[in-house]
Amino acid sequence: MALEDPAHRLSELRTRLASRAENAGLSPPVLLAVSKTRTAGEVRGLHAAGQTAFGENYVQEALEKIDALAGLPLQWHLIGHLQSNKAKEAAERFDWVQSVDRIKLVDALARHRPANLPPLAVLVQVNIDGEAGKHGCTPAEAAMLCEAIAARPTLALRGLMAIPAPDGDMAVRGAAFRDMRRLFDALRARFPQMDTLSMGMSEDAELAVAEGSTMVRIGTALFGPRAAKTPDALS
Ligand SMILES: *Cc1c(COP(=O)(O)O)cnc(C)c1O
Repeated sequence: MALEDPAHRLSELRTRLASRAENAGLSPPVLLAVSKTRTAGEVRGLHAAGQTAFGENYVQEALEKIDALAGLPLQWHLIGHLQSNKAKEAAERFDWVQSVDRIKLVDALARHRPANLPPLAVLVQVNIDGEAGKHGCTPAEAAMLCEAIAARPTLALRGLMAIPAPDGDMAVRGAAFRDMRRLFDALRARFPQMDTLSMGMSEDAELAVAEGSTMVRIGTALFGPRAAKTPDALS
């Protein structure tokens, strides 16, 4: 096995994050492999190395891979901004939606989740650093959204997700992660079913884990650099 291949990177990353968590007295985080812009073949390869949870940003792109890999026991997470007109497809085809940030989306996902499937796992996306123009609800709105999700039998409230500003300053990012953990703990007192705090990407996963993340979303550090960025508007 070549040192630089994704399977090797996966096991190396798992070990590193688990030891980070252990140092902080926490359980190892769940690792979500972010497969946007990657081929179905690359997903298959990482699955062969033991990875089952994959994250995608764009519904259309994801559906092609979900169809192509229908025979594999994979868990699909939508982590990109979700437009309401794509909520039906998302509710029907994904296992998790991590980017729920408004009540209209809660209603659409709940309505369209087929009754014969397990409840759709949902995270509330919080705009933790109040960056203008960014997706995510305010910290103050999170409780109201959690309540709405918890009331819908076709949805399962699992926790919170955040994407802190891509600030060069890791101390600023660490503070954002800490604020998220505090909000998560406060909400969990009211919604004990919440077990997931999704934060941390390739560049700051270790910091996020040290600050109490339970799920990291990793693309580049597993698959290598992405060739080109798909505009967010196409999600
Ligand atoms: C692309 C993306 C990631 C993964 O980013 P990397 O830096 O490649 O690890 C994680 N979360 C979200 C929401 C993303 O859009």
